[in-house]
Amino acid sequence: MPSSVLILSGGVDSTVLLAQLLSEGRAVRALTVDYGQRHRREIDSARAVAAHYGVEHRVADLRGVAALMGGNALTDASIQVPEGHYEAESMKATVVPNRNMLFLALAGSWAVATKSDTVVYGAHGGDHAIYPDCRPEFAEAMDRALGLCDWHPVRLERSFVSWDKARIVRRGAELGAPLALTWSCYVGGASPCGRCGTCVERREAFAKAGIPDPLRYA
Ligand SMILES: [Zn+2]
Repeated sequence: MPSSVLILSGGVDSTVLLAQLLSEGRAVRALTVDYGQRHRREIDSARAVAAHYGVEHRVADLRGVAALMGGNALTDASIQVPEGHYEAESMKATVVPNRNMLFLALAGSWAVATKSDTVVYGAHGGDHAIYPDCRPEFAEAMDRALGLCDWHPVRLERSFVSWDKARIVRRGAELGAPLALTWSCYVGGASPCGRCGTCVERREAFAKAGIPDPLRYA
């Protein structure tokens, strides 16, 4: 049986990706990284999604090195989370330096240790406009590095790389993925703000997909 380590953030993309991998008959282990993000609510979502599917789930605690990734709105509570659309220049405040390399490296370690075939993450077609570590060239370099980091070669897979988020939402609905358990908002709190970049992107995607968003916005 093909086996994968999935980076599970607790958001829509990685949740639908988990549903998709399981529908393909894969063995999946799910990894969530706690890097001191202010929106800790997403870690609870990741736990709930993994429990929903009964897959093995680990939360890697990187809070001790969070200070090295400071100066952005996701790990530094003194910087305000910008509101508006992802394409806006102000959204660069949400870039966590080199986050994906860290996540992929950790997932790669677990994949080697468990002799898994692939590391999978939910990067999608709309992701790389402001996030340099979502560019295809970066993923190609990481794929190559994961193939060389151990005698057991691991490949990097980006199943949704050519998909837009609306297509991911539609696929999630088809697969019966637990979208009500997911969390996207960068601000956190009892209910999602509806105004930050990731809330705006999520709401647009559900609207475009013609699927009602099960979350209640503030
Ligand atoms: Zn929000």
